[in-house]
Amino acid sequence: MISTQIPKNPIKRLDVFYTLGEGVIISADVQSRTRKDLIHYSRIAIDPISLKIVKESCSCEAGAFHRKCWRLKVLEQLISSEEIKAKIEKARQEMMQIEEDIASWG
Ligand SMILES: [Zn+2]
Repeated sequence: MISTQIPKNPIKRLDVFYTLGEGVIISADVQSRTRKDLIHYSRIAIDPISLKIVKESCSCEAGAFHRKCWRLKVLEQLISSEEIKAKIEKARQEMMQIEEDIASWG
């Protein structure tokens, strides 16, 4: 959840978490600009070490053609916000904990 959500903010839900294999995922439900009842699911995968974007996807029409839509641009801009940076850092720490656990299994 975004605590500092402003009314015109199109992002209805935002999660930052780590997945094995893909890295840190920023996943969001973003409202359509033209149809207010329509929600698109946008997702950005970030390399946990370099913090570079490795994968982007969106459920909207542009995303279906692998074109970058405004939703993905909004998410990209969020990556540099302090709030999201902190969430990414938390996800990275969880990642390191998971990798330590895996290492201890062997
Ligand atoms: Zn889109």
